[in-house]
Amino acid sequence: MPLYEYLCEDCEGIFEVVRPIREAPEPQPCPECDEECERVMPSAFSAFVMRQGYPRRIPDRGNYWHLGQEVTYLPKKARPYEHPQVTKRREQEPLATQDYTDLVDQKIAERRIAREDRRKERELKKDRMAKKAKELKPAAHPKPRS
Ligand SMILES: [Zn+2]
Repeated sequence: MPLYEYLCEDCEGIFEVVRPIREAPEPQPCPECDEECERVMPSAFSAFVMRQGYPRRIPDRGNYWHLGQEVTYLPKKARPYEHPQVTKRREQEPLATQDYTDLVDQKIAERRIAREDRRKERELKKDRMAKKAKELKPAAHPKPRS
């Protein structure tokens, strides 16, 4: 069954009702004030106005709409593309003890490898310096020619 929208002219509310197509043109009682309401075409409500940087649905009831859902207050902090009142902050699952131990082991192993690399690098550097010194020595103190 399709979803239809109805506008209450008494309380200026818009509500949606899922009902059979043949019943769609019939008036529907407002869930707020029980007044008979006429169906509105969805195209009439695809219009939004921007106010205070937020899209507002027409007719303007003073609320805000975001991702097709009503926002009843303006949050101080909102992330883009997320409904401020619906999307919950995703909590990161705490690691299981085994996972944590594995992670620590992995970090230790990574550091050990890095340390080993640095040590090798130092050794190579020392070797190169020694070689250079050896090469330079004869030049610095040339042997007297006989
Ligand atoms: Zn109403």
